Amino acid sequence: MSLITEVIERIKQRDPNEPEFHQAAEEVMESLEPTVSKHPEFVKASIYDRIVEPERTIVFRVPWVDDKGEVQVNRGFRIEFNNAIGPFKGGLRFHPSANLSILKFLGFEQIFKNSLTTLPMGGGKGGSNFDPKGKSDMEVMRFCQSFMRELYRHIGPNTDVPAGDIGVGGREIGFMNGYYKKIRNEHTCVLTGKGLEYGGSLIRPEATGYGCVYFAAEMLATRGLDFKGKRVIVSGAGNVAQYTIEKVNQLGGKCISVCDSSATIIDEAGIDAEKLAYIMYLKNVQRGRISEYADKYSDATCFKGQSVWDVVASQGIKVDVGLPSATQNEIDGNHAAALVKNGCYCVAEGANMPSTPEAVKIYKDANVLFGPGKAANAGGVATSGLEMSQNSQRLSWTREEVDSRLHGIMKSIHKSCIDASAAYATKGDYVAGANIAGFIKVANAMIANGVV
Ligand code: NAP
Repeated sequence: MSLITEVIERIKQRDPNEPEFHQAAEEVMESLEPTVSKHPEFVKASIYDRIVEPERTIVFRVPWVDDKGEVQVNRGFRIEFNNAIGPFKGGLRFHPSANLSILKFLGFEQIFKNSLTTLPMGGGKGGSNFDPKGKSDMEVMRFCQSFMRELYRHIGPNTDVPAGDIGVGGREIGFMNGYYKKIRNEHTCVLTGKGLEYGGSLIRPEATGYGCVYFAAEMLATRGLDFKGKRVIVSGAGNVAQYTIEKVNQLGGKCISVCDSSATIIDEAGIDAEKLAYIMYLKNVQRGRISEYADKYSDATCFKGQSVWDVVASQGIKVDVGLPSATQNEIDGNHAAALVKNGCYCVAEGANMPSTPEAVKIYKDANVLFGPGKAANAGGVATSGLEMSQNSQRLSWTREEVDSRLHGIMKSIHKSCIDASAAYATKGDYVAGANIAGFIKVANAMIANGVV
């Protein structure tokens, strides 16, 4: 049995109830196989076993009082996975499905993603099974305060700097930041994704979506293509999806879909700036359901209870580029086969691990340009890193400056993937390239730091 197979087996035996973590670890570990023979020093220092074990896992009770005066209890998590190259860094997810397996998969992915950005950030992730949907602003505030009442003792500007993720946007970051400031009596960069008035960076809200489109544009350019006139399928209707659509529009493409967890919208006319502004109002202010889009724009079709990928398959919708931006494992093998059949030749993951291993294999066999999440959606955390830099300097950079740095970072991540894939695997295999390029830097730092 190879060392890599042994490591995967040990992970499964140690934590048998963590399927999402197994999936993420297996994907990374398998693509690290070529590094084993080239780096005996990694084997000697047991880097492969050490990197799959979090530095620290924190699980805690989050009690809070709802608007009826009743006491509710949720579970909070923070996975401090690896801080070899910088403070732990990664988002907080508030969603009923949040559990140790999902947050460990996300924290693990974050190690390699953060390394790829070239910025000094380690990997972490956290969150809660709290569902902000249907809660009043005051309920969300009381929850966030209770969550921070425990989390504050584990984080800090040089220790661990959380950000947003699913269910955690500007409102939640504001409440948590305010409470941290109150109980620590210090105004410091302990969260990113802050509002502009209190230390946030321009372009941070846009960064994940913009970055994903920049990455896809780099992939398309390797085949002499660009976004002009392309039919683009986007899933989700949240932060990542919204700014993905904005950037695709700016580059001349046409986005024809959005979805949330209850419905999919197909708008063959394309989601232009005015329709996107409506989606932003509907989702970020009204906190409504995406099905309402079809009430406002009668040419659009609403498919209740179906994901974008179900609809692409069942309706035979023609696609050039797919930009999944909702959640993990949203595209299975059947969906991927339908995408390929319907003409798709490029997929860049705005979401984390939205494609199952079966889907990834189908892209590979069909020679689809495939940008995995840890490379394609690294623009969000990269800009969080830029927010940390600005806070340290007590400066705010202009929109143009941040956007140009983001664009430069996405190009550099693309180049790192190409270079590492050429050196260790097959040139243009972005999965291998992202995993290997992200890993080598962290592994070297772990060796330099000794057995700690
Ligand atoms: P968000 O603002 O909360 O939006 C998530 C969107 O996806 C919502 O429209 C949500 O619909 C939809 N969704 C969630 N689960 C779904 C499901 N099972 N089926 C269909 N739709 C579903 O979150 P986000 O920040 O855009 O994050 C989206 C993805 O990007 C996640 O995988 C996240 O980890 C990843 N990501 C985010 C960032 C960032 O900077 N925000 C950075 C890197 C990666 P409902 O409203 O119905 O739940």
